[in-house]
Amino acid sequence: MIDHTHAGTARSWVDSANGHASFPLQNLPLGVFSPGGSAPRCGVAIGDRILDLQALAAGGHLPETIAEAVCGPTLNPLLAMGRPASRTLRHAVFELLSEDRSHRAGDLPLHEAKHCQMCLPAIIGGYTDFYAGIVHATNVGKLFRPDNPLLPNYKYVPIGYHGRPSSIRPSGTPIRRPNGQIRTGQSDPVAGPARQLDYEVELGIWIGSGNALGVPIPISEAGEHIAGISLLNDWSARDIQAWEYQPLGPFLAKNFATTISPWIVTAEALAPFRAAQMARPPGDPAPLPYLLDARDQAEGALAIQLEIALQTAAMREAGQPHQAIAWTAASHLYWTPAQMVAHHSSNGCNLEPGDLLGTGTISAPEEHGYGSLLETTSRGERPIRLANGEERRFLEDGDEVVLTGRCSQPGFASIGFGECRATVLPAPSPSASNPQ
Ligand code: MN
Repeated sequence: MIDHTHAGTARSWVDSANGHASFPLQNLPLGVFSPGGSAPRCGVAIGDRILDLQALAAGGHLPETIAEAVCGPTLNPLLAMGRPASRTLRHAVFELLSEDRSHRAGDLPLHEAKHCQMCLPAIIGGYTDFYAGIVHATNVGKLFRPDNPLLPNYKYVPIGYHGRPSSIRPSGTPIRRPNGQIRTGQSDPVAGPARQLDYEVELGIWIGSGNALGVPIPISEAGEHIAGISLLNDWSARDIQAWEYQPLGPFLAKNFATTISPWIVTAEALAPFRAAQMARPPGDPAPLPYLLDARDQAEGALAIQLEIALQTAAMREAGQPHQAIAWTAASHLYWTPAQMVAHHSSNGCNLEPGDLLGTGTISAPEEHGYGSLLETTSRGERPIRLANGEERRFLEDGDEVVLTGRCSQPGFASIGFGECRATVLPAPSPSASNPQ
């Protein structure tokens, strides 16, 4: 899996790529962008530029087998071709952008990223959110069941629910605070703007090639169905959630918005950053056989550092930068991405190219390691104090949340995911859509 495209010494003739925090030559993530308001097209991020795959294909620079798949407005056709096509594209683009090639700016269709709008990388037919962050699941469980925070199924079943694809937006799109039913104490519920709006830091797992309905994906093959990873913010209204979630689980508390970083960091790019799955504590059950694969246990986890930063409206007006408020890591996932894929399809459910799986909120056990304000502020009881003196129990209108992620490994170039960023807008007026 590791080859010349991962060499730490490899450099690009695109100067900004060398040492770039997210997109050096070794990353080459896939996305869909709109240059200067024109039609969306597929691209690859390189430093502060975007390589236009459609133009590249038209110029005869890409292998015929993949050229057609990257000429539409979404990545679904390429994702459907699976990992071999992704590898072929990576190698071809690496060649073209590598320092020791004769191509130079002017020869290749590059756009300045700051002049492009990022779109969703794929049509997302299905979105599923798991609950694999065991520190988060324990913390949240403790708020309700101090003595027995994890339900009995947690260590057997990768818990998940079906989310709503229609409200997923790329980084930079503001989100609106939802209205909903809120019940305080034992009084009757009222309808109004959520007062406990929260973020959740997660990874988004992109499905490449899918499976036919009725044909489960074996755990040993599940990794081959994962095209790559983005960052995901599963916005959550805790007060709406608390009242509505029993007995069927999350609904309007979460389906009003999900933000993703718009670049798919491919499974190929992540090869140097694979890690052994966390050792299960003594006494935990082994995964059932359909979820257990020696290779997946040895290298199926991901070494990704995650950061959550916040900028309030007051900070923005005062010209103050975002303040990092929490740091966590993907090593706190109790299930690997491959286990989530195998479990999801184990009943015959068909996954399709461009489907998105959220991992669940990723929290680390240490102080400042929590992936949601629900945990950080103990459900609003212990507010955090920001550098400018403001306090937050939950998000307020005008707050902007930025998630970033980074992979580092000695001997390899560090890569990142770009940003998963969105600002909170006020709730719509309840009468706005009710003109009479
Ligand atoms: Mn979630």
